[in-house]
Amino acid sequence: MATHRIGVIGLGKIAQDQHLPVIAASDEFVLASVSSQRGLTAPGALAFTDHVALLKETPDLEAVAICTPPQVRHAIARQALAAGKHVMLEKPPTATLSELSDLKADAAARGLVLMTTWHSQYNAAVDRAQALLAGETVTRLFVNWKEGVRKWHPGQAWIWQAGGFGVFDPGINALSIVTKIMPAPVFVAEAELLVPSNAESPIAATLRFAGPGDLTAEFDWRQTGGEVWEITVETAAGKTLLLSGGGSRLAVDGVETVAEKPAEYQDIYRHFAALLDAGRSHVDAQPFELVADAFLLGRRVVGEAFHD
Ligand code: NAP
Repeated sequence: MATHRIGVIGLGKIAQDQHLPVIAASDEFVLASVSSQRGLTAPGALAFTDHVALLKETPDLEAVAICTPPQVRHAIARQALAAGKHVMLEKPPTATLSELSDLKADAAARGLVLMTTWHSQYNAAVDRAQALLAGETVTRLFVNWKEGVRKWHPGQAWIWQAGGFGVFDPGINALSIVTKIMPAPVFVAEAELLVPSNAESPIAATLRFAGPGDLTAEFDWRQTGGEVWEITVETAAGKTLLLSGGGSRLAVDGVETVAEKPAEYQDIYRHFAALLDAGRSHVDAQPFELVADAFLLGRRVVGEAFHD
């Protein structure tokens, strides 16, 4: 099995929680280097404080995983592609749709692999829901995605800035499940975005998708107590599917059908290795398009100020 030398750019929460431990345990990847503006390091890897040095000075570097906030991802990805490196993009892949199209075209022109990661899609329960819904008519979809922003994003100023996505940072995970499991394309018909008076991005949002059927989503970062990451789907044939735990559990007509310990990032890296071996890209813009459409169509309501 080929072993791929990878660098990780940006050692924030997701890099430390998932990318570094998953690479360390992988047979398919070796962590060659990291870049951290704050000067963080990782065992056994070269360490740089800027990604340009990482790209230039890491011997035999094949690929990078870009784990920065989305606002800076396009520029960094462009530099990585220009340096001849394959690229894995954390979600959301870029700040805008046109940036993602540009990266897709640039990677293709250079013969390099580009992969968007939608981690919530990498769940056995999501795969089963997709299979069960194939060919069905959906009469009701309800996305109920609520968590406490203070618990999940403490001190992350970028999420409140324009291009930081606000509550769509977690909400896009739900939408990545929706685009995978729904048997027909979904379109945003209406959206309402609640934006704190001292922020540029929404703290809560509601969406209605075009019918037929009653298709809605609620995202809220003001949740206290436990988080709710659920998607309910009802079909014309009378089936009810409930995905819970962020897509890790599936109940069909009230009976638990899949409940596997999530291994999202292990599967993401397995998929990336397969793409590298095959020289193929995987660029999925669909969840991102729904969020962009919510921002395009959304009615903005200014709410009370939020203090972290
Ligand atoms: P975070 O904790 O704020 O980490 C982002 C890191 O990127 C920062 O700590 C910093 O690390 C680096 N960085 C910040 N600004 C930068 C800039 N201008 N240029 C280059 N590097 C910069 O955020 P996070 O939660 O890890 O999220 C990062 C991305 O992963 C987001 O797109 C998020 O949606 C996605 N994600 C997060 C989670 C999660 O559970 N948190 C889950 C899945 C996906 P250094 O100081 O080390 O350079």
